[in-house]
Amino acid sequence: MTTILWYRQDLRVDDAPALLRSADDEVIPLFVHAPDEEAPWAPGGASRWWLHHSLGWLGERLRSMGSRLVLRQGPTAETILDVASATGASRVVTSRRYEPHVDVTRVRAVLAERGVAFEEVEGATLFPLDALRTGSGRPYQVYTPFARALRAMDPPDRPKKAPELRAPSRWPGGEHLDSFGLLPSLPWAREFPSWWTPGGEGAAERLRRFLAGPIETYSTERDQPHVLGTSGLSPHLHFGEISPRRIWHTVGDAIRRRNDPSFTSHAEKFRAELLWREFAHNVLLHFPHTESQPLRSEYARFPWRNDPTALRAWQRGQTGYPIVDAGMRQLWRIGWMHNRVRMVVASFLVKHLLLPWQEGATWFWETLVDADLANNSLGWQWSAGSGADAAPYFRVFNPVLQGKKFDADGAYVRAWVPELAKMPTAWIHAPWEAPPAVLSAAGVRLGEHYPKPIVDHGIARQRAMDALAVVSLERESNE
Ligand SMILES: Cc1cc2nc3c(=O)[nH]c(=O)nc-3n(C[C@H](O)[C@H](O)[C@H](O)COP(=O)(O)OP(=O)(O)OC[C@H]3O[C@@H](n4cnc5c(N)ncnc54)[C@H](O)[C@@H]3O)c2cc1C
Repeated sequence: MTTILWYRQDLRVDDAPALLRSADDEVIPLFVHAPDEEAPWAPGGASRWWLHHSLGWLGERLRSMGSRLVLRQGPTAETILDVASATGASRVVTSRRYEPHVDVTRVRAVLAERGVAFEEVEGATLFPLDALRTGSGRPYQVYTPFARALRAMDPPDRPKKAPELRAPSRWPGGEHLDSFGLLPSLPWAREFPSWWTPGGEGAAERLRRFLAGPIETYSTERDQPHVLGTSGLSPHLHFGEISPRRIWHTVGDAIRRRNDPSFTSHAEKFRAELLWREFAHNVLLHFPHTESQPLRSEYARFPWRNDPTALRAWQRGQTGYPIVDAGMRQLWRIGWMHNRVRMVVASFLVKHLLLPWQEGATWFWETLVDADLANNSLGWQWSAGSGADAAPYFRVFNPVLQGKKFDADGAYVRAWVPELAKMPTAWIHAPWEAPPAVLSAAGVRLGEHYPKPIVDHGIARQRAMDALAVVSLERESNE
């Protein structure tokens, strides 16, 4: 029998359930490029860069196994059918995706009409999430009991190595990766290769490096944006280049081997973050509208402002708040931003600038190499106060205090906002408070080299509180 292994967001051969399910057959690995069908969440610019390289890696890897990756573009259902007709394939296997707009119903129906079987297998998450409910039978909306429920379940299956692959007797025609046009025409992604190695080997290497150092201090250093204290696995996880089970069990094995309470505590904190990813998938699965609409309906009436100039200043890292600008520039230059700073810049957009979280989510979608609908929607709604287990709206991060707390010596700001490189630490997070002589010695003229704050923190905070009153009134009238 010949099976088409339809690759989508699971670009790996290690611990790949769809691949394992196909392995007794002759296998035709296939990727169909159909961005229109993923609208409005077709991969953004940074993700396309990643996808190009990830597909390139997967093609090479499959070749080393005596197989290949067939690349095609066109309407998905018809393209798969075409490949099936050309090769006599009678079955299509794919790994499940949780994005609500990616609907395989039509693919299944078109294939069924021509007698081609279709199977979707789990592999994107650690645990089965469909049936998971609270004691009162509702989907979880709070992380802590959700995580507790997962930990009470059977542990995820152990990861499995790539099987041998049998090549089909007939290969269908394919296209060249370059014809997908995934790489940017302007060289804005030029720094990406020095930070990232897309593909399964890059993912395995990241995990190795994380286990060889940063995991030892994860709980404390994961909040320090200038320290490489987190795993950097997010884009690899998003594109399915490494399975969450592989990460979970590799860390679990290290916990057992080390048998050291301190190591266990850091490692379990890291595994708890993997459960945040499960939580995000759970929210998107059960509340699919949260990709663009608030989970808490009263936020639909939130009095957001429309201010393209402020939005642009935020996008370009020109708000005059150094920690915010450093984060936004890190994002632009390397396609990634530290989690702590993601929270600060998101809070700044929705609370200080009173701009809709959807604007922020869209910008992140375009610029993050790890742009992920589940995690991004959860992160933005959390920041806006409108989502599951969200930060209370009245908690408005003070960007100066956040800077002083998490970037105490200013190293992160100096790395990403070179205009402020010579500012003494005492003023690096609030340069407008520095005496003129200090500014002058640091070579900074505010409003010229570096912007003055585009909003005053105190005024912005009060404005956010006033806006919240509208939502609170709405909530009261609903109760
Ligand atoms: C406004 C906002 C937007 C975000 N958008 C995204 C996004 O598009 N894609 C994305 O992968 N993450 C997103 N996050 C979550 C988090 O910032 C990143 O997952 C993390 O910074 C990735 O770095 P890492 O791999 O080094 O994380 P580590 O600390 O090493 O964590 C390991 C893995 O756990 C998962 N994880 C960690 N934190 C979270 C979280 N808060 N929610 C869900 N999963 C988490 C990720 O898959 C991550 O790779 C967002 C957070 C916020 C506040």
